[in-house]
Amino acid sequence: MRAMVLEKPKRSLQLRDVPKPKAGRGQLLVRVSTCAVCRTDLHVVDGELPNPKLPLILGHQIVGRVEEIGEEGNSKFEIEDRVGIPWLGWTDGECAYCRSGRENLCDRARFTGYTIDGGYAEFTVADSRFCFHLPDRYNDVEVAPLLCAGLIGYRSYRKTGDAHRIGIYGFGNAAHLISQIALYERRELLVFTRPGDEATQESSKKMGAKWAGGSDEMPPQKLDAAIIFASVGPLVPAALHALAKGGIVVCGGIHMSDIPSFPYVDLWEERVITSVANLTRRDAEEFLEIAPNVPVRTKTEILPLEEANTALDRFRAGELNGTAVLVVNAKGSGD
Ligand SMILES: [Zn+2]
Ligand SMILES: [Zn+2]
Repeated sequence: MRAMVLEKPKRSLQLRDVPKPKAGRGQLLVRVSTCAVCRTDLHVVDGELPNPKLPLILGHQIVGRVEEIGEEGNSKFEIEDRVGIPWLGWTDGECAYCRSGRENLCDRARFTGYTIDGGYAEFTVADSRFCFHLPDRYNDVEVAPLLCAGLIGYRSYRKTGDAHRIGIYGFGNAAHLISQIALYERRELLVFTRPGDEATQESSKKMGAKWAGGSDEMPPQKLDAAIIFASVGPLVPAALHALAKGGIVVCGGIHMSDIPSFPYVDLWEERVITSVANLTRRDAEEFLEIAPNVPVRTKTEILPLEEANTALDRFRAGELNGTAVLVVNAKGSGD
């Protein structure tokens, strides 16, 4: 089968003809239709995340059809069912984190397109317990970005609890999706962009943001919560400084540059800084239920699988006008 393979970090992906994987016990063999590109893919390619599987097939926002069901496969899927495969690919189910409803923190977790092969390929295998049915309202391209930007964005948003006035730092894919849910739930939305990025500020206001400005500005009123999607450490003290008492800063990314020091008075009065790591299956179920009701709309740019490097380069350069979605023309059993 055709696959775009990362042989070493800091190198371009290589188009390779590799053996088609087989569905093992409890796994599905999935014929990939689309796979969205996530910032995490960039971090893996750029060598910013430790110990990826190598060589590696990237991609963890996978939409496809069940081609084969391995022994003891989960009965919730049948051949030809459409499935979504997210970042969380496997957990042991028995560590202290798994047993306390925090499988996102599992000590032995495996991650799609990072420590196990993902969806930049014609076929992939996945543990059926971590695959999802997808809402019919969306086609294969539209639904792909929901599987990471949507899911992990949703977990970040839920961490803000009942916060009414929410600031979002970095208005990329995850922010775009989560803002729609926040507005649907009648939260007040304030958007912080790169200083001077008036185009993004205008478009977020058009979407319903009450205020938009540069990340170097203070909002007109203090925030109950802030979510940081940009991987820029200095935003943490900036967001903290904009918080009301008891507020929370949620860092939604897997990687961030170093955070500069800040005066304790900015943390005082029960302000909280937290990060969000991965997702649980429960996050996915909740999000995939709420998304079509809002309805959350995605903005995408379609590229063929072979142009994965172009997608990554344009992402890195900030040149995409939506989530890049690789379209894989998987036909029959072409291995
Ligand atoms: Zn575990
Ligand atoms: Zn992702």
